Amino acid sequence: MNARRHDYDLFVIGAGSGGVRAARLAAQTGARVAVAEESRVGGTCVIRGCVPKKLLVYASQFGEAFQDSIGYGWSYDDARFDWPTLIAHKDREIARLEGLYRANLEKAGVELIDERAVLAGGHDIHLQGSGRTVSAERILIATGGRPNPHQALEGHELCITSDEAFHLEKLPEKIVIAGGGYIAVEFAGIFASMGVETTILYRGKEILQRFDMDLRRLLHAEYENKGIHIRCQDVFGRVERLDNGWLRGTFLGGDCYDAEQIMLAVGRLPNTAGLGLEKLGIETDKRGSICVDDYSRTNVEHVWAIGDVTDRMQLTPVAIHEAMCFVDTVFHDRPTRPDYDFVPTAVFSQPEIGTVGMTEDEARKKVDHLAIYKTVFRPMKNTLAGRSERMLMKLVVDADTDKVLGAHVLGPDAGETAQLLGISVKMGATKADFDRTMAVHPTAAEELVTMYKPTAVIRRGEVVEAA
Ligand code: NDP
Repeated sequence: MNARRHDYDLFVIGAGSGGVRAARLAAQTGARVAVAEESRVGGTCVIRGCVPKKLLVYASQFGEAFQDSIGYGWSYDDARFDWPTLIAHKDREIARLEGLYRANLEKAGVELIDERAVLAGGHDIHLQGSGRTVSAERILIATGGRPNPHQALEGHELCITSDEAFHLEKLPEKIVIAGGGYIAVEFAGIFASMGVETTILYRGKEILQRFDMDLRRLLHAEYENKGIHIRCQDVFGRVERLDNGWLRGTFLGGDCYDAEQIMLAVGRLPNTAGLGLEKLGIETDKRGSICVDDYSRTNVEHVWAIGDVTDRMQLTPVAIHEAMCFVDTVFHDRPTRPDYDFVPTAVFSQPEIGTVGMTEDEARKKVDHLAIYKTVFRPMKNTLAGRSERMLMKLVVDADTDKVLGAHVLGPDAGETAQLLGISVKMGATKADFDRTMAVHPTAAEELVTMYKPTAVIRRGEVVEAA
């Protein structure tokens, strides 16, 4: 290693979840590490993603909690919600977290460079603010992603994305959210719970592709019960501004819908534009994502990439895991591949989704003999509250080996439940292990260990027994 030939042993571009973790861990090995960030430290997750989103979800849940409390004997006259107050408090918390991220980098001995950095060829990195060029033995690209602006849509520039949704000056009266993935579904729950007339516009047959169909259908039904409109198998062909400042979206079929805001949540694109990848001949795929091998290395020997700038799983914990594997591989000489099996995930819809492993449809294609265990019920808390909202739990089991292949929950605290289910499913738990686990009573989660009879047995994709 000729580390001293260069200014740094490792230069990280992008101080999001993945970049920060890699920089800190590498610096702790004694390496000379710098991380450059053109925006704010913390990246999508902390600044304009998971964290502020969860704060908005919490805020939006109080409305229903106030309503539910009446059945429990509470009364109130004057519960009011103020969006600007929430946004100001959220911004204060994000600024606090950013400060912590900065402090932790400093504590680890990482040099933080608040400038845009681009590849300048070979081992050189150009810092666009100061005009300096520095060099590094190794370069890690962790520039993340950004909302797809959907340029094919006429009038797309009039629409907002999640980036702007976090900073709206006022809550709109009516919003249409285009897309049927995580962001569309989560923001629909937030806006609707805050009293905004909300529509999801999704091009496919059912929202939340890739999730278990039972969850998708029940969430759809519960969203409609809350008054969220869901229009599937349709898209806008054009968006235009009306004289009153509102927007008109015209569907491909010709009819139209007016809303105060239209939000595009049609996926995220990798942040690779203008990064200088071509100077080193770094390969990208057709979306522009950086291609990497199993160890996050690009086709260029001294350049690696992690997180959303690669086309793997766009999840914060996955980017952090990739960062840790990168440091193990490169700085500890312990080649470690990121492990993408049984990654639990949550959608902070209302009700929430928590899931790990195979969906029933996926298992039907891959596994000959399946047993499905499913229950749908009204959680106890909803009884006195007078709320009809249901909860769903489902286990997808390999009927030959008894292994639990997938676990899916829709309902209160499903994300928390998925974290724990994730451990057992990852460990290879069998249905018998679930059965011999004592229930925690009275909880909703106890249903997971008390589903004794399969609701369906499936052989080679066909249901052969149904309860
Ligand atoms: P998703 O990939 O989840 O969803 C994108 C949606 O946009 C899909 O419904 C997709 O349809 C639709 N879409 C894509 N292109 C078009 C188009 N040209 N016209 C109309 N619709 C289109 O992306 P999100 O933007 O919701 O979120 C990005 C990623 O961020 C997620 O995949 C997730 O990994 C991560 N994330 C995670 C969260 C969490 O962990 N709770 C929260 C938020 C984001 P189709 O289904 O047909 O492809």
